[in-house]
Amino acid sequence: MTTFTQEPHKLLVIPGPIEVTDEVLYANAHPSMSHMSADFVPVLGDCIRMTREVLFTTTGQPFIIAGSGTLGWDQVAANLVEAGESALVLNSGYFEVDEVYADLGTSVDLVEVEKALSSKKYKILTFTHVDTSTAVLSDAQAIAATVQRVSPDTLVVMDGVCSVASEEIRMDAWGIDIVLTASQKGLGTPPGLSILVASQKAIKVFEARKTPPTSYYASWKKWLPVMQAYERGSAAYFATPPVNLVYAFRTSLTQITKGPQSLEERFALHRKGSQRLRDAVAELGLKQLPTSPAVAANGMTAIYLPDGYAASDIVPRMLKRNVVVAGGLHKDVKDKYFRIGHMGVSVTDESRGDIDKIISALRESFADAAASKKA
Ligand SMILES: *Cc1c(COP(=O)(O)O)cnc(C)c1O
Repeated sequence: MTTFTQEPHKLLVIPGPIEVTDEVLYANAHPSMSHMSADFVPVLGDCIRMTREVLFTTTGQPFIIAGSGTLGWDQVAANLVEAGESALVLNSGYFEVDEVYADLGTSVDLVEVEKALSSKKYKILTFTHVDTSTAVLSDAQAIAATVQRVSPDTLVVMDGVCSVASEEIRMDAWGIDIVLTASQKGLGTPPGLSILVASQKAIKVFEARKTPPTSYYASWKKWLPVMQAYERGSAAYFATPPVNLVYAFRTSLTQITKGPQSLEERFALHRKGSQRLRDAVAELGLKQLPTSPAVAANGMTAIYLPDGYAASDIVPRMLKRNVVVAGGLHKDVKDKYFRIGHMGVSVTDESRGDIDKIISALRESFADAAASKKA
C-alpha cells in the first residue's frame, strides 16, 4: 500500500459527514473492480460481518445499499408496514402516525410511551437514538424494554444515523429490531451508503407480509438474496453496489472492530471528548440544549448562544479559524444555537488534537465576536 496523506483542509466537525482517516480515503481510491468479481465478494461480505459486530448482534441481517441514511426509512416503510397498520413515532414524524412528543432538550417520557402502546396495536415503534437537531440522546434500552413489556409484537425501530459507532448499541441484548444508519457519521466513511440491520424477528414479520413491498429499489425481496449471497461468498446482482465506497467502508469497519481500541474504549473516548468540549463550553458561560447530562449525546454537542448573538456571529468566525461547525436546525430555536460534531477519528485519535483545535477556535471566536459587538 502506498503511503497516502490527505491534503490539508478545514477541520470538519459537523454532525456528519465527519473526518475520515487517510486509510479510509485511500481505500476509496481503489482501482475499478467488477462488483461480481471473486476479489470484491469478500469485501462486501466482511462489511456485512463487521457491521454486526459494531451493533453487538450475532443474528441481525445487515442491508448495505447505495443511498443515504434516509433510504433506511424507506426500507422500513416499504418492507415492514402494510396498509392500515399503525406506527408510533417518538420525537419526529414520518409516516401517517401517532406521535409522542418530548419537550425541547429532553427525551420522551416512558409513561407516555406505555400509555400509547396500551391504547392501540402498533406494528412498529420508531425513535431517534441521537436527535441531530438537539443532541438529545434517548435511552434506547429503556424504550425497547417498555415495548417488550407492554406490546411485545411491536417492532422497535431505531434511527441510529447519528449514534452508530459513537454510542453503545446492543441490538440483541436490548431487543432492538431495526437499526438504520449511514456511512458518513460515526462509521467514518464518505457519504453514500445506507446501512440497516434487521433482527430475525423483523425478517419474519417481513416474510409474513400479505401484500408485496411498496418499493422497487428498497424491497428486501430484492436485497435479502443479494446480502445472503455475498456473505456466503458468491456474487449476486440486483443493482450495482458503490464498489469503491464498500472498500472504504471495510477499511473503516476494520479500524473500528479490529483496531487497537475495543468498541467499549471507543465509546469511552467519545464520552471523554464530549466532556472536554462541554467543560470548555461551560467555562465560556454557555448552555447546552439537552437539559441534563443524562440525555446529552456523546458524538455531538448543541450549544445555546448568549442573548444578542446569532449563529452568524460564531459559525463564520469558526470557519475563518479552519473549523467547520453547523448552525441550528430545530425550528423552535433555529437561530439561537449551533452544533459541533465530534465522532470517529476526531476523538479516537487524540494525537490529532481535534478537540483542542475546536476549543481554541471557540474561545477566539467568542472573544472576537464580543469585541466587535463592543466596537
Ligand atoms: C443525518 C441523519 C439522518 C439523515 O441521514 P442522510 O444520510 O442525510 O439521509 C437521519 N437521521 C439522523 C438522526 C441523522 O443524524
